[in-house]
Amino acid sequence: MDKYEVVIGLEVHVQLNTTTKLFTQVPYRYGEEPNTLVDEVVLGLPGTLPVLNKAAILKTVQVGSVFGCKIARKCKWDRKNYFYPDAPKNYQISQYDQPLCVGGFVEIELEGPARNIQGQHRKVALNRIHLEEDVGKLTHFGDESWIDFNRAGTPLIEIVSEPDMHSTTEVFAYLKSLEMHLKFIGASNCDMEKGQMRCDANVSIRPIGATQLGTKVELKNLNSISGVCNGIEHEIRRQIALVESGDKVVQETRRWDADKGESFTMRSKEDAHDYRYFTDPDLCPISLSESMIEEQVKKVPELPFAKQERYMKELRLPYTVTSVVCYDRNLSDYFESALQAYSKNPIAIANWVANDLLREMADKNTGWSALSIKPAQIAELVQLIDEQILSKQSAKKVFTDMFATGKNPRQIVQEKGLEIKVDLQALKKLCEEVIVAFPKPVAEFRAGKEKAINVLKGQIMRQTQGKVPVNMIDKLLLECLNA
Ligand code: ADP
Ligand code: MG
Repeated sequence: MDKYEVVIGLEVHVQLNTTTKLFTQVPYRYGEEPNTLVDEVVLGLPGTLPVLNKAAILKTVQVGSVFGCKIARKCKWDRKNYFYPDAPKNYQISQYDQPLCVGGFVEIELEGPARNIQGQHRKVALNRIHLEEDVGKLTHFGDESWIDFNRAGTPLIEIVSEPDMHSTTEVFAYLKSLEMHLKFIGASNCDMEKGQMRCDANVSIRPIGATQLGTKVELKNLNSISGVCNGIEHEIRRQIALVESGDKVVQETRRWDADKGESFTMRSKEDAHDYRYFTDPDLCPISLSESMIEEQVKKVPELPFAKQERYMKELRLPYTVTSVVCYDRNLSDYFESALQAYSKNPIAIANWVANDLLREMADKNTGWSALSIKPAQIAELVQLIDEQILSKQSAKKVFTDMFATGKNPRQIVQEKGLEIKVDLQALKKLCEEVIVAFPKPVAEFRAGKEKAINVLKGQIMRQTQGKVPVNMIDKLLLECLNA
């Protein structure tokens, strides 16, 4: 194994979530009755002509800008000709020699030495991102094959990496990063189970130190991120075994069978000329103006990794909480709104959002759109704690109530009488009583064992039923002990 370097390049197809298809106004939605989201253009009936959906171009420009690609000022459409039932026109409209986006890179985060520790970042080079139409979906049952053209004509971007990955750890991180960024800017939902993201993997090996690439094998039918990694691992072993036994790897396309854990030859080397690419005469070339590109680039929000770095530096948030808050657009927008309402305690707000809010949403099966608790209300809750109006313990109860009813925390605190009413005299007396009642921890504390104070603290918290803030107890207890 350590004699060879593994080289991997991925071709990832992602469905853009535009409301309508790439060259016609029919919508696309996953899970509809087969062949109901079609029209003459999708079915390629004679006499029909494609009309470009501008939204797909605009989204692809945004994607290109996220990954630092060069955006072409001019591009065109080509026909990729092949004869197969999933393509009713016998060609697929794609971009061959003038893709919309060229070069660029995907920043990936390799998992740290342990989970929850920030991992290393590196950039995986991209070759291009081009736009094309999706084709129909074939399903095979015994000796019958069924075709569903619903997804045919849906805009697909193909993100082609350079042969720049060297392990399945990198492949995993690459796919995760693609998914995170594309979801973050709202370009796609990237659900592999729904075919919204599909990946073909090109794998080769070469002796360590060699500069020429080895012969590649393309793997298809990789239906989940773990499927991609398993398929590649198997392919690496297969190629090493071939070479070790004196054979050669042949260039071919292989089909991964996840159930059997094996791959099978689909077809041997096919070349671009097999597809007889030529410019589509039905569509004019596109020119993109500077102002249009600029407008799209401006729409791209601060991206997860940059946001994370900023939060760690400016807000002093720990890595663990930023990796929850920054990697999801809904969460980070929510957090930022809360922060705008109350900026004094970002850590507390981040913790409520990343822990309590997410947990409650999962428990109650609530999506973002159905959420009744508003960011400003979480901000208010944190403020109530900071101002010592509400204890942390009571705040948990208030939160559950807020989540269920959408009421303001102040109102709940009033209705339920949860406001901290500390009788300082009584609290001081309680501290003195506890000090008398527990001589052992008191002696230990005075001898320098600071943790011994926790026994006393616990007693007071129990007797005040969690209504007194812990820092208040701390302060008073220390005063009494040092008196
Ligand atoms: P083809 O002409 O066969 O389509 P491309 O050069 O267009 O090949 O590359 C297709 C994909 O295969 C790209 O993602 C690229 O990074 C990857 N690739 C190309 N050569 C190799 C190789 N020797 N080993 C691994 N991946 C490769
Ligand atoms: Mg190619």
